Amino acid sequence: MEKENLRDKKITENLNFKLWLKSLSPTLLRRCRECGEYTLNQSKCPRCGGSVYTPIPPKFSPDDKYAKYRRMMKEEAEKRSKS
Ligand SMILES: [Zn+2]
Repeated sequence: MEKENLRDKKITENLNFKLWLKSLSPTLLRRCRECGEYTLNQSKCPRCGGSVYTPIPPKFSPDDKYAKYRRMMKEEAEKRSKS
C-alpha cells in the first residue's frame, strides 16, 4: 500500500517537473553533466557541484536530428501495445 502511494507521488512529481520545464525559457535552463539534475544555476550544479551545460531540446534543433529516433520509438511502442 505504501509502495503504491510512493509510486503515485513519483508520477505526480514527474508531471509537475515536466510542466515546470515547459514553463522555463530553454536559454536559462542548465543541466548537470555529472548527475543530470536540471537547474537554473548558471555555473554549477546545486546538488553535486558538477559543471552544467545548456540542454537544447530536440525541437529547437534546426535539422531535428532526433526526429528519426522519436519515430522509431513511437513505432516500437505501438508494436508493443498491439501484441
Ligand atoms: Zn549534479
